[in-house]
This record gives sequence, C-alpha cells and structure tokens, in this order.
Amino acid sequence: MDMAVEAGVIKQHLIDPEICIRCNTCEATCPVNAITHDDNNYVVRADICNGCMACISPCPTGSIDNWRTMPLVRAYSIEEQFTWESLPAELSTEELEAAGVSAEAAGDAAAAVPAQTQAQAQAAVESVEPVFNSAQYGATVPPWSAAHAYTNLFAPKAPTTATVVGNFNCTEAGFDSETHHIVLDFGVVPFPVLEGQSIGIIAPGVDAIGKRHHARQYSVASPRNGERPGYNNVSLTVKRVTEDHQGDPVRGVCSNYVCDLKVGDTVQVVGPFGTSFLMPNHPRSHIVMICTGTGSAPMRAMTEWRRRLRKSGKFEGGKLMLFFGARTQQELPYFGPLQSLPKDFIDINLAFSRTPGQPKRYVQDLMRERAADLAALLKDGASHFYVCGLKSMEEGVVLALRDVATEAGLDWDTVGAALKREGRLHLETY
Ligand SMILES: Cc1cc2nc3c(=O)[nH]c(=O)nc-3n(C[C@H](O)[C@H](O)[C@H](O)COP(=O)(O)OP(=O)(O)OC[C@H]3O[C@@H](n4cnc5c(N)ncnc54)[C@H](O)[C@@H]3O)c2cc1C
Ligand code: SF4
Ligand code: SF4
Repeated sequence: MDMAVEAGVIKQHLIDPEICIRCNTCEATCPVNAITHDDNNYVVRADICNGCMACISPCPTGSIDNWRTMPLVRAYSIEEQFTWESLPAELSTEELEAAGVSAEAAGDAAAAVPAQTQAQAQAAVESVEPVFNSAQYGATVPPWSAAHAYTNLFAPKAPTTATVVGNFNCTEAGFDSETHHIVLDFGVVPFPVLEGQSIGIIAPGVDAIGKRHHARQYSVASPRNGERPGYNNVSLTVKRVTEDHQGDPVRGVCSNYVCDLKVGDTVQVVGPFGTSFLMPNHPRSHIVMICTGTGSAPMRAMTEWRRRLRKSGKFEGGKLMLFFGARTQQELPYFGPLQSLPKDFIDINLAFSRTPGQPKRYVQDLMRERAADLAALLKDGASHFYVCGLKSMEEGVVLALRDVATEAGLDWDTVGAALKREGRLHLETY
C-alpha cells in the first residue's frame, strides 16, 4: 500500500485567492469536476482532485499551482477555502507530527501522491460517462507561429494605472443593452499585449463583505501596436451587466464602472493574461472567428492586425471568416465599422436571435449553412478556429464543427484531437 495514504497524509491542491482572477478556466478544464466556486473564491475539493495537472498550464495566473502537505483528517474543506483571503502557510514539521504525521510520511506524500494520482486520474477520466464535453477540444497551446506573449506583469497586489483616453457606446444608442469601446493609455509603463490576450480591471471600493473587489477580465480589442498605432494604448469592448445570467436585474460592479468612466479618469489594471488564445502569424494561415456580443473583442483585434498588415503590403494573408451573433442588430458591437471592411478581406456572417418578426438565428445555424466552406477549412492544417462569447454558445459551436467535419467524411476524433494538439481551436467563453 502507498505509504502516504497509509499514514493519512495528502498533498492538497489549493488555489491562491490573492492571485486568482476568477476566470473559470480551471473549472471548465478539470476532467473530474474537482473545482468549484462561489462569489468569493475558486476552490479545489480535496476528496475529488486526483492531481492530474490538467488545470495547471491553462490557468493564466499560476494561482492554481499550490500544494500543501496535510493530515487527511485536517484537509481544508471547500467551505473553509471559500472564506480565505490568502493561502494558509505550509504546516510545520512539528504541526504535522502533532497531527500524527511523521516527517517520513510527509516526505512520502510530497513524492508519492502525484505518481499515485496519475493512475487515479486516468481511471477517473475513463469512468466519466462519454457525454460530449466541448471544453476537451479547446487547445491550451498557441498556434506554432504565435508571437511571444507577456503575462502577469502586474499582479492584483501591485496593479498599474492607466488613463482613459476614449469611451463611446459602440452599439446603437437608445437601447437598454449597451456596450462601450474604451481606450486605455499606459503612458510610459510597459504593458505589451497581443491580440487574444485580456487584462484585468479592479473597480474601486469594496464588496458586500468589505473586501477589495477582485479584478474583472476584459479581452483586448486592439492589435499589438495599439488602438492608435504607435501609442501605448489598448481598447476594450465592455458590456454593461444589468441582469445576471438568469435574467434577474442586477448592477454589475466592474462593467458599469468601466462604461461610466470619463476621458482623463484613471483605472487600476492587472495582467496581461493569456498565452494560448493567440493568432497565427504565418502567411496564408486562415482564421475562423465565431463569437457573440463582447466575444467580438479579440476578433476585432485579430481582424485589425491583419487589416494593417494587408495595408502595409507586406503580408500575404489567408482567409478571414467571421460568424457573429447578437440578439438584435442594435446590440451588435461595431456593426457600422464591420460593414465597411472589404468583402475580399473578410467573409462576414451575422446571426440575430431576437429580430422581431424573424426566426431566431444563432451562430451555429450560420455555421451549418456554410458547411462546405468550413469543411474545406477543417481539412486545411493552416486553419485556426476561435470561439469567444457567452458560455452557453460553446457546446453548440463545437458540436456544429463536429457535424460539419462528420458530414464531410472526416473523422471528428482525429480532427478534434489535431485542432487541440496543434493549438488551432481556442475556446474562451464567460
Ligand atoms: C477571459 C474573459 C474575458 C472576458 N472578456 C470580456 C469582454 O471583453 N467584455 C466584457 O464585457 N466582459 C468580458 N468578460 C466578463 C467580465 O470579466 C465580467 O464578468 C463582466 O464584465 C461582469 O462583471 P461585473 O463586475 O459587471 O459583474 P459582477 O458584479 O461580477 O456580477 C453581477 C452579476 O452578473 C452576473 N454576470 C457576470 N458576468 C455576466 C455576463 N457577462 N453576463 C450576464 N451576467 C453576468 C454575475 O454572475 C452576477 O450575478 C470576460 C471574462 C473572462 C473570463
Ligand atoms: S489537478 Fe486535475 S483533478 Fe485536480 S483540480 Fe486540477 S484538473 Fe482537477
Ligand atoms: S486564475 Fe487560475 S485558478 Fe483562478 S479561476 Fe482562472 S484558471 Fe482558475
């Protein structure tokens, strides 16, 4: 029998609440549902986590890579972890011995548990019902030609300051739903970002339990050389949250704060985050962008970078194909500017789900209509697929891709595995 288990000691997996940006990536990734969250913290259930490490590299902050040697009977419960504001220190040898754990057993736990859990992890994955899980196809590696991304230059404990240099409603004025295009300038502070990365904004004030607000994440909507080329600025696409995911009225803390910012105001920024939702840079690489609402932010960034490259005459671009969904045309961010992009530059497909008097159409419906073109792209190893927007869209979109592949005579298991392995299918939903 394994010494560590015999001695009642485990290496407990914990998330650092001071660094975690509550992005949900780990919860979506964990194959055995060991991760959960409340309004305060993301936590790992000690009785379910098997140390498979699948969540470690996708976490954009590294906050999930924490381990504590604990007597089994004193393992931190999720209720306890929900209340944490910082990680508890490692128990001392004396504390472990007082709990009946010898130094030898503690050492065995540190060394043996990951090895032991690899087998458990495999068994757990195999025992999970074979239901369709879109998250399993999402790549955790970037395309091979992606540029190097800087991350975590500014941590939540030491944010930097940016100045608002632009803020306008980029959806049609006069409607309840409102999305703003915000431009932030970093002055002389280094804050290099790539298309597909995100930044965190910390709203001023404290939450209901008197704690400083945690950072909310927003995708960068501008290309790598700035919203205004040559300036140290980034743009964001921020939707006011006025109702929660269930449709009940609520005033989102950070989104409303950001949408109400005035030119000249300053904001606290952390990040940048993200190392895999990055665009390919090799000539003739194709980009298929599938998004809803503010999921358009990274797509705007990629499209604009390709547009600038094309304008410079130095880049032989591949195809750009966009599937963009919103409830109504009025709610679609950047509707006007999208219309002015040349047809031979980008293939735009718009779906509206709440246009009065018209049948509901979602991005998946458009993808099925364009099955022949998508199948050709799925067969081409230079194609990269990006999905961003509402969590509820993810499964439908990946299922549509699977159906397109299958109907074209492709084996989805082979195609899906290649897309993941080669960093060619990226999912970012929230
Ligand atoms: C990787 C990533 C990228 C993101 N990019 C963007 C972006 O580009 N633009 C953008 O506007 N947002 C983006 N978000 C969402 C953003 O981080 C916030 O969750 C959102 O702005 C709500 O924050 P809040 O403080 O206003 O609401 P909170 O005060 O945190 O929440 C208020 C209530 O609304 C619910 N809620 C939270 N978010 C939403 C939502 N999106 N829709 C409906 N209900 C919600 C909460 O569950 C809660 O009940 C992104 C999130 C992630 C993880
Ligand atoms: S190590 Fe594996 S089982 Fe544990 S939380 Fe991470 S993904 Fe889940
Ligand atoms: S920052 Fe890391 S630990 Fe926190 S929710 Fe995201 S993936 Fe999970």
